[in-house]
Amino acid sequence: MDPASSPIERCANCQQELRLDRAAGLTYCSGCGTSLVPSLVAPPNEPPLAERSRRQLKFCFWSLFLLTPVAGVLVSSDPDWVKDLLPDFITEIVPLPLKVISTLGIGVLASSYCLVQLQDQDRSLAQVVSGTILMALGLLVGYFCIAFVGCGIIAVIVHAVGH
Ligand SMILES: [Zn+2]
Repeated sequence: MDPASSPIERCANCQQELRLDRAAGLTYCSGCGTSLVPSLVAPPNEPPLAERSRRQLKFCFWSLFLLTPVAGVLVSSDPDWVKDLLPDFITEIVPLPLKVISTLGIGVLASSYCLVQLQDQDRSLAQVVSGTILMALGLLVGYFCIAFVGCGIIAVIVHAVGH
């Protein structure tokens, strides 16, 4: 909205000049209490940049955390699209297990990086790197526990169904 194009704004109800009310951030006319049109009151309350980037980081983390095992399973089935995706010399040289491990490794490191960035601390590059690696180890332990519990549950179900 161009301020020059709108002359003195007045309350539609009591014609009071609204400049001071707007400046005070009021959503109603201080003269008569009439609600002011929201779009004219102030720019919508956007979360501060830090808050938004935190949300994006959380989203990134959860996407990576959940998709990494899926990507690992996909790559381990060695589908053709992975071969198409990578240059020929890589698909020929790199053995499948290494491809799976590097997929998982990249996913885990990327999600750890998101976690490290989520912490409100100024860090040096070395701290970010070491924090990311430590976090990645933690995530691997987390994956292991999830897999362990998952296998345990499946074993219990299979056992229960078998009897
Ligand atoms: Zn008014």
